[in-house]
Amino acid sequence: MKHLLLHSCCAPCSPYVIRKLAEEYRVTVFFYNPNIHGPAEYELRLTEIRRLCAALGVELIEGGYDPDRYFARVGPLAFSGEGGERCSECFRLRLEEACQVARQIGASVVATTLSVSPHKKTRQINSQGRSAAGKYEGLAFLEADFKKKEGYRISCELSREYGFYRQNYCGCIFSKAESERRDNTDPAPPRG
Ligand code: SF4
Repeated sequence: MKHLLLHSCCAPCSPYVIRKLAEEYRVTVFFYNPNIHGPAEYELRLTEIRRLCAALGVELIEGGYDPDRYFARVGPLAFSGEGGERCSECFRLRLEEACQVARQIGASVVATTLSVSPHKKTRQINSQGRSAAGKYEGLAFLEADFKKKEGYRISCELSREYGFYRQNYCGCIFSKAESERRDNTDPAPPRG
């Protein structure tokens, strides 16, 4: 069975993907999200992924929380808006780290939960993952769209069952500000 390192953006997006991938791979979860704004929010999301991995009996590797690194890479693109260059660089930063850790632990495949969110562009995620993994011989990025085949709906149901905290913005300070500007009556699904 191949060893896969799954980058997790947050707990609500993870249980469906972990279950699905565990059918084919030995899965290790990797939480590396320096994009998350503020230590309190970061701790909240980290606590939830710890809880999920403990419940599923899956190994969790906790990456460092280094928002300075995020701002150095993504800050110049801050105002390109959600879905733009800012997010491409944010995906790239996180997936580059995942690929590096995968190599260190001997995993041969990397994947991410990011595509569960209906707010994210799968092609944009897969393009960054493919490129990041391409720097390592023998490392593959699993290109997937986990929101499809009811993936998003099932993820929401599982998230409710686990009672996870669900954020209403993606993670960075820019997405938080954008969320606050959105109409409060917008029934859009939670953003992960
Ligand atoms: S909106 Fe989300 S994906 Fe885009 S830069 Fe912010 S945290 Fe990263």
